[in-house]
Order: sequence, then structure tokens, then C-alpha cells
Amino acid sequence: MRELPFHTLAPWLRETFSRSVHRVALDAGSTCPNRDGSKGLGGCIYCDVEGSGSGALRDGFDLTDQLEKGLKRLARRQEPGKPPIGVIAYFQSYTNTYVTTQRLIETLDVVRPYLDRGIVAVSIATRPDCLPEEALDALEALSKHVPVWVEVGLEVADDQRLLDIGRMHTVAEFEESVRRIHARGLMSVGHAILGLPGDGREGARETARVLAEVGCSGIKVHNLMVLKRTQLAAMWKRGDVEVLEPETYVDWLADFVERLHPDQILHRITGDAPIEKRLAPLWEVHKTEIRERLAQTLGDRGTSQGSLYSPSRAPTPT
Ligand code: SF4
Repeated sequence: MRELPFHTLAPWLRETFSRSVHRVALDAGSTCPNRDGSKGLGGCIYCDVEGSGSGALRDGFDLTDQLEKGLKRLARRQEPGKPPIGVIAYFQSYTNTYVTTQRLIETLDVVRPYLDRGIVAVSIATRPDCLPEEALDALEALSKHVPVWVEVGLEVADDQRLLDIGRMHTVAEFEESVRRIHARGLMSVGHAILGLPGDGREGARETARVLAEVGCSGIKVHNLMVLKRTQLAAMWKRGDVEVLEPETYVDWLADFVERLHPDQILHRITGDAPIEKRLAPLWEVHKTEIRERLAQTLGDRGTSQGSLYSPSRAPTPT
């Protein structure tokens, strides 16, 4: 296999954990301050009613059920003679630290008995403004036993755009949250969306610059997707929103990747919302092909991840 001009997650996981590693997505039944009125109502314009998650809890599966089910599913993929598959327990839905400290500790405790059953990391999704010291204490305590990644959404590095899309936090709050995550010895994964309303190609470049500068360990980036039952869906139906064609997305993605830090790990480079949840775009280009096209585009440009990274102020990713 040829070497890619950017860092993707799978090889990093294989190198770090010496085995194949997969995620089990978990729904801890959290909500979000951007939905219950504390920060906003209705959520970010692109977020569906399941809070970008699986809705498993609503379907009657508690956390232990979800973990057991996920581990069984992965056990069926185990190849004979290969090291046991590693698992990332991924608290995906909503804002997982937007709960009492006691509830967060209880949630994290569900994972502990499974640490010797192949869990190699715990990843927890949240918002930059939902990381009180007590939550970081709980995450830091867990990190003494297993690596902990904290996934925080930036989405776009422009305060006006953040307001327009209903994120209800600022770029500075995102940067501060990442610094506090790193101060606890935890890894951070910063999220970005390319093609948000009003945010063009230069916006994609600026978002990469901010993510590079703050030194997120990992990056998740995808193209804007219009999901059913979102505010964005209404805007799209009115013709107020356009989504990117794959060619444009790959061009912008190449710009984005060129401006990241050379050592940052790309956990995701394209959206993966199922077609039945999606209004647009309807193109189905598999993530492997996006990866290939990105490699081709960077190759044609003679660049690679970090080629346009400016080291002026940026710390190295932790
Ligand atoms: S912060 Fe996350 S969970 Fe909350 S509305 Fe936005 S995308 Fe959805």
C-alpha cells in the first residue's frame, strides 16, 4: 500500500496499540445546553434530534447492553491467529459532560469492568463550554487506567459563523477548552465542518489554522450534510443553503490538510450520515475514495499535510 501524504487514524491505531481497533458508539442519555435552553433552543442548525448519535438509549439499550452488543459484534470480526481486536468506547451522542459530576463518574464507571476486555481508549464527545474542572477531574482519573480522548466541536473558526449556525460558543472558548484538556494529560480531537453557510474556502483554511495552532491531537472533518429534522433542512428546502460537490470538497479538504500541523491525526475526513437520514448531498463517495482523491490532489499540488502550516505560535499536538 502506498504511503498517504497525510496521517489517518487506522495506521496510527495499529502502530499505537499493535492491533486492529474499532469504535463502539455509546449513547449515555445526555442532553445538550444548546437544546434545553441553557445556551440555546433547538440545537446547532445541522444537528438532528438524536444529537449526532445513535439514539440507542431511547431504543431501550442501557450502557452495559450497548457495550455488550458492540463487543459481540466486534468479536464476530476477530480473525483467528490475530491479536484481539481493540475497542474505543465512544460516548458519541449529545454533550456527554453536560451532566452532574456524579452522573459522569457513574457513566465512566460502566466502562471500567470492560478495560480488560479489549477497550484501548475511551472517547467522549462534548462542547467547549461544558468542561468544568470536576468533569476534567473525572476524565483525568479514568485516564490513569486507559487513554482518554475528549472530542470538542469547533466546526468553524469564526465567531459570527458560530453564532449564525447556533453553536453558542466562541473560538476563544474552544481554544481554552483544548488547552485545559491538554493540561490534564488528555488527548483532544477537534471537529470541523467544511461548507457551512456563509463559510467559504478561506473559512476552511482558517479553521485548519486554528486547529493546528491550538495543537489538537486529532482532527475530525467532514463536508456539510443536511440531515432530516434539522433547522438546516428548512434552510436547504428554501434554497438558502448549498452543499459541496465531491470535487469541491476534496479541493477544500486539501487546503485544510495542508494547513494542519504535520503530526495531527485525521480521525475522519468525510461525513458518514446514512442516506436515509440525509437530504443533501446525495452523492455517495466512499471514504476510501475521498482518501484516494485527497492523496491525488495533494500529489498533483506537490504538497502534503502541514505543507502550509505556520509554526509561528503553534504548540506541537499532544
Ligand atoms: S452542541 Fe452537539 S449535541 Fe448540542 S446541538 Fe450542537 S451538535 Fe447537537
